[in-house]
Amino acid sequence: MTSPVVSIIDSDQPEKWQQMLSDLITDPKELLQILGLNATDYPGDPDMLRQFPMKVPRPFAARMEAGNWRDPLLLQVLPSSLEAVQVEGLVADPLQEAAANPVPGLLHKYAGRVLLTAVPHCAVHCRYCFRRHFDYAGNAPNRSEWVKAIDYIAADPGITEVILSGGDPLAASDRHLRWLIDRINDIEHVSSLRLHTRLPIVLPQRVTPGLAALLGGSRAKPVLVVHCNHAQELDLQVASALGQLTDNRIILLNQAVLLRDVNDNLPALVALSKRLFQLHVLPYYLHLPDRVAGTAHFQVSAATGRELISGMQAQLPGYLVPTLVQEQPGASAKTRLA
Ligand SMILES: *Cc1c(COP(=O)(O)O)cnc(C)c1O
Ligand code: SF4
Repeated sequence: MTSPVVSIIDSDQPEKWQQMLSDLITDPKELLQILGLNATDYPGDPDMLRQFPMKVPRPFAARMEAGNWRDPLLLQVLPSSLEAVQVEGLVADPLQEAAANPVPGLLHKYAGRVLLTAVPHCAVHCRYCFRRHFDYAGNAPNRSEWVKAIDYIAADPGITEVILSGGDPLAASDRHLRWLIDRINDIEHVSSLRLHTRLPIVLPQRVTPGLAALLGGSRAKPVLVVHCNHAQELDLQVASALGQLTDNRIILLNQAVLLRDVNDNLPALVALSKRLFQLHVLPYYLHLPDRVAGTAHFQVSAATGRELISGMQAQLPGYLVPTLVQEQPGASAKTRLA
């Protein structure tokens, strides 16, 4: 049962993180100004901003180094005119997910697992995102569509894990999440509940005691996969957010994307694994960027990826070396490259 106090807070008074979510930096010039960079040196492209607007939470911007155009956090979020470059082989829907989309908001590509694009927006727009062309409007489930997704899962006893993804599932209010998690927990054959989220990294204020308790209380074993690409993203506020989650016995993993000029060097990857470990997070996947249009300048080759993994193996215990993967359309799992 929901206590009346909680429901009043949920429905009437935006929480601090919700206020911060409505006060994102969306103007590249403002971000550059905050960083002491000269905005007149920035080749803006209004067309590209219309297609995939800039979104940066202020606590994430606060971790960027002032005066540094090549800051690894800035490079992930600042729209670049290079996004307009057309390259053969980079397409809008590289994963051909449309084919695995039996009901709106649900992807059933791999045995035993379904992925719900539960919430159609993110707190941050990562310029390399494989969903930058995703049809969120057609996959923006309201409650009645969530019910269809729940019915689909309930009807297939082979589904043992539900993955809440997005967008970002933690962009939903606790009240919405509680509703969805309760429905999922009613389905006996679902034994684990996974969330793929970047919010604890880019807006750690999202992790409140209420959220940590809600996730930790799930009957289906809760696993939270954060998305962090660089050790510089992990400041004390993030550490405290992740600490609340581990205090609630939630298993924490990280997936990163291997991005040119952001983290495609051995010291950066080793530092990331070590810092994650200190925060009780184990590295899970290191993804090669999906071959999505507009991301040519982020692409790293599989050969470079393999070399970096060998380098990590030479320096780290096996459990701190992520699995290098790439998503290939039609494959029955993510493809392991190393
Ligand atoms: C990545 C992904 C999963 C989960 O795969 P794991 O290898 O179990 O992490 C499930 N469904 C879809 C559509 C995915 O893209
Ligand atoms: S948080 Fe994830 S889904 Fe959202 S823009 Fe970044 S990479 Fe894409």
